[in-house]
Amino acid sequence: MVGADSDDHSPATRLVTGGRRADWTGTPSEPGAVVSPPVWRASTHLYPDIAALNAGKPNEDGHFYYGRRGSPTQWALADALTALEPGAAGTVLYPSGVSALAGALMAVLRPGDVLLMTDNAYEPTRNLGRGLLRDFGIETRWFDPQDPAAFTAAIDDRCKAVLLESPGSLTLEVQDVPALTAAARASGLAVVLDNTWAGPLGFAALEHGADISVMSLTKHVGGHSDLMLGSASAGEAFYAKLRRTAQGLGLVVSPDDASLALRGLRTMGVRLERETASAAALAAWLEQQPQIARVLCPMLPGSPGHALWARDFTGGCGLFSIVFKGKDGKARDAFIDGLGLFGIGYSWGGFESLVTPVDPAKLRTASPWPLRDMDNADRFGVRLSIGLEDPADLQADLAHGLAAWDAA
Ligand SMILES: *Cc1c(COP(=O)(O)O)cnc(C)c1O
Repeated sequence: MVGADSDDHSPATRLVTGGRRADWTGTPSEPGAVVSPPVWRASTHLYPDIAALNAGKPNEDGHFYYGRRGSPTQWALADALTALEPGAAGTVLYPSGVSALAGALMAVLRPGDVLLMTDNAYEPTRNLGRGLLRDFGIETRWFDPQDPAAFTAAIDDRCKAVLLESPGSLTLEVQDVPALTAAARASGLAVVLDNTWAGPLGFAALEHGADISVMSLTKHVGGHSDLMLGSASAGEAFYAKLRRTAQGLGLVVSPDDASLALRGLRTMGVRLERETASAAALAAWLEQQPQIARVLCPMLPGSPGHALWARDFTGGCGLFSIVFKGKDGKARDAFIDGLGLFGIGYSWGGFESLVTPVDPAKLRTASPWPLRDMDNADRFGVRLSIGLEDPADLQADLAHGLAAWDAA
């Protein structure tokens, strides 16, 4: 939405005020009569007469025209997200995070172009490069997330965009985003950054040089494991490209999901604070356990990219990974099955804790896994998403899992 709230309050306050324009939260005679924008289910917009129909604003944000252009429910969510992203002129909503990534990449790439992608990107993002984008004549090349010099050297005339994800999925290395975006900009590459881990409260993506900040709203914004949505926020020029591409694809999100996401957004700040504190404490405890070779958690001193996290980020979240010291996949499975409070399943960022096995070695193409400084025997890991449970209960549960690993 163009025209986000010109609100200079702190992010915590903007989480509360964002998207609550009086004409979206009331009726014409009682603007602002309710707190949250109602769910406007509408495909057709009726006009009082033919003159009004002819005067309609077919492609202007924030005006009823036809359901595919959304309603105040979706506009309010987009507006609230724009208000949280410094430097953004607008936000496009997508039916999932993957859809947002595809929409953003399709907005900045054309047949014959090359996309440079960080080697620790989320697997479905890698699949986009190997699949859909390749089908459209776009080549993807992967680069080592921790080597800005190699990235700069990889840029040639055909490279038109770069996909960053910091910290990256599963292995959570933080990237030197300012260095990477400076090199990208010097060569005219568009920078798309998957900011799902930190979100705008933890990392100001556009201020650090990204052109488009993408999020899976399924994670922290939804926060309750009951919806799928994605977003891409950008300044004026890239917002226009995103919008044109999304409209061409006919994308529209349900007002019910937008309403749930807005509800989740209001409490995202306090949830993230709690998750981050619990995750940092559990990560520090796990690092002391004899079964653990490495804890991959940006908030933890000594973790890959911790210094960059401390330099560039204003927050964290509950998602981190651990790598076991030796043994095998069976022991890892015993750990997972030994947990009671952690649900086994994909996704993260909900109020409840989750665990999934991670096998990053299978995914890497440009850079080695295990991490350069890790023993080759230490290959089996799990990713933990820390929820809002009492961290003491979670620690006791993890201790059960480690006992099961010992016994395996
Ligand atoms: C989950 C996730 C996505 C995809 O989001 P969906 O809403 O599940 O499509 C993208 N990037 C990252 C880093 C993710 O964890």
